[in-house]
Amino acid sequence: MKKLTFLFILLIAAVFIFFYASGRFSPGTQAQQTADPVEEFREDDFQTEEDRLEESDSSEESTTDSEEAETALDERDQQGPDSGLEDEGSETEIEVPIPGTEEYYKGVTVVDKPDHLTVLVNKKNVLKSDYEPSDLVKPEVFAPGRSEIEMFMREEAAEAVLELVNTAEEEENLEILPASAYRSYDLQTIIFKNNVSRKGSVEKANETSALPGQSEHQTGLAVDMSCSSVGYQINSSFGDTEEAEWLADNAHRFGFIIRYPEGKTKITGYNYEPWHLRYVGKDTAKSIYEEGLTLEEYLEKQ
Ligand SMILES: [Zn+2]
Repeated sequence: MKKLTFLFILLIAAVFIFFYASGRFSPGTQAQQTADPVEEFREDDFQTEEDRLEESDSSEESTTDSEEAETALDERDQQGPDSGLEDEGSETEIEVPIPGTEEYYKGVTVVDKPDHLTVLVNKKNVLKSDYEPSDLVKPEVFAPGRSEIEMFMREEAAEAVLELVNTAEEEENLEILPASAYRSYDLQTIIFKNNVSRKGSVEKANETSALPGQSEHQTGLAVDMSCSSVGYQINSSFGDTEEAEWLADNAHRFGFIIRYPEGKTKITGYNYEPWHLRYVGKDTAKSIYEEGLTLEEYLEKQ
């Protein structure tokens, strides 16, 4: 009987060694076999985005001399949640508050209807990391030289922006084009980390740049507009243009609002951004425009 047990154990051991040698029990192989394919895709996608972002950086830099690039970088320092989009990628691993952790959710509310046209996303109301609109499309018009990853918008907003672009051209012969629209959570993470590298801390970076989950661009309803006279850049130089003036007076006709108006930093949490439009639908945009409100104030009144 003892001999039989011994033989049985020997057999088990032999089978185990065979499988181990063939790699089936190797931890690396096992992880790959069981990994969620969606997660794998997201990770690949993330890498591609980072590569593309770096590619677009180098093409940006090659068209401007270093002094101009430096000035543009400084200007972005003083700006809002769009800041840092064109910055160089960083290899350094930086800890940022991760949604799902206690640190991130301190004093913030998770948005429960992210698809709603008047969804409020700011430093207090955050989107989940896996939120991605289901109806993202590329608008028919876009500023030249921009990275494709920034071009998508929710269908209704993409149609509205086309109507806006066409009307500006027909009525005033102005060329105003979208220059940056949907940004995934992962892309915003890259942008934010770049800002942390430059500023030295999460707190400093957050003064001018949105944390992942807190960027309105993740809704697919926000779009930064620009024009050729400022080289389609997204910074304060756009504010002095005829195009920006037209946008401020007319964006509501197409369902957009200037999301971060002048003098409302305490309410919105960000400085004046003449280029950043947010789609809310025509009726809401008209009310917000006529009453001179921010989205926060408008929603408070509802
Ligand atoms: Zn923006």
